Amino acid sequence: MNRKAKIVNRLVILGAGESGVGTALLGKEKGFEVFVSDKGKIKEKYKDVLLNNEIEWEEEQHTEDKILNADVVMKSPGIPDSIGLIKMLKENNILVISEIEFASKFTNANLIGITGSNGKTTTTLMTYQILNNGGLNVGIAGNIGDSFAKQVVQNSFEHYVLELSSFQLDGIENFRPHIAIITNITPDHLDRYDYKFENYIASKFRIIMNQTEGDYLIYDADDEVIVNYLKEHSIQSTLLPFSLTKKIENGACLENNNIKITIANNQIIMPIANLTLEGKHNIKNAMAASTAAHLLKIRKHTIRESLENFHGAEHRLEKVLRINKVQYINDSKATNVNATYYALESMDAPTVWIVGGEDKGNNYSALFPFVNEKVKAIICLGVDNKKLFETFGSMVDIMVETQFMSEAIKIAYKIAEAGDNVLLSPACASFDLFENFEDRGRQFKEAVRKL
Ligand code: ADP
Repeated sequence: MNRKAKIVNRLVILGAGESGVGTALLGKEKGFEVFVSDKGKIKEKYKDVLLNNEIEWEEEQHTEDKILNADVVMKSPGIPDSIGLIKMLKENNILVISEIEFASKFTNANLIGITGSNGKTTTTLMTYQILNNGGLNVGIAGNIGDSFAKQVVQNSFEHYVLELSSFQLDGIENFRPHIAIITNITPDHLDRYDYKFENYIASKFRIIMNQTEGDYLIYDADDEVIVNYLKEHSIQSTLLPFSLTKKIENGACLENNNIKITIANNQIIMPIANLTLEGKHNIKNAMAASTAAHLLKIRKHTIRESLENFHGAEHRLEKVLRINKVQYINDSKATNVNATYYALESMDAPTVWIVGGEDKGNNYSALFPFVNEKVKAIICLGVDNKKLFETFGSMVDIMVETQFMSEAIKIAYKIAEAGDNVLLSPACASFDLFENFEDRGRQFKEAVRKL
């Protein structure tokens, strides 16, 4: 009997966004039979790519017959595991993975993976910039720019710096970054983790699950959640902690207002005064990025120079304009309490604070000392501001609410005096009044520019 082996594997992609379409391109190039299915409408630019590359797709539906015959499924990070279709795939023992897992199978590049609750984008950009300035042939991907998968098809980078969300990490099997960074872990996205913080923590730590002794974990040693996890689990990776408060022999710490990085007795010293980004959290991000760069043998002066010239990412403590000696700062990306904590901490003048949006079950108590000390007025910008009034009402003299950014800025303009800051750092998601945090940040900047 002439039995033909099945040689073509069927790759089904759920979600036709940046990571989905990138995976489709890579799958096609690697000889998979590719089918892309999106429950919503697919953006025109992505449809064009699928059509031009003769990749079969559907939108506004998931046709089960065309999905349940997959050999492997790539699920977009936005799709939760709890939906019926994913459950069905798992019941049928069909492998469901993330784009990072799929793409990493097809590259031999050195991978630097960066995760954490806050600081991923900033640390990823910093690391990329240092490595690039150091002359490495390096790409940047993950939640930033072109998908990792698409870059694996179109480029031949020797190193990738990858920003990794917990959702991307949930879908890995063999993904193994040579260098992993965990910036911090505070409660976020708990709706996707059965409201169990331990599940979210475990998801973040998947970044090191395939690492061996020759690989590195760079992490915040001031973060109790991380430190406790490391105590309770046996970890293969070589550990390189960073800290603002402790002495660190192998890793990064502060000494006389310098960042000191030590790896195998080789040291770099950098004055923190020379960093362009403000705030303690950015010292930590700089420590993490420089430690990774030091491991990859980037020269000391390149690391120093890169950090001295690094201008942060948009919507992250972004200084917009100074008007009548009042500094307007856009921190729209602060969508949780921890990010806002660092924003308020870094304020060095009386602050008019614009806060609010979709509350994710926030506990604001960590902010109280800063609000008492630095915040002169609160402008609530959300559909429902009741919790904010109840929490902060007694702490400030002026507290108002609005549903319009332009009005929020006009009120802030009236209240703020020379020397003050006006800070948008919402500690909440943006979806009640805005399309996303970028839209919220852009509206902030536009309104400020119109003053
Ligand atoms: P992510 O990609 O993890 O969301 P970003 O770099 O975009 O991180 O920063 C998100 C928010 O968190 C911004 O408001 C930023 O100022 C703040 N932030 C940046 N780095 C840190 C850090 N290490 N710890 C806490 N907050 C941070």
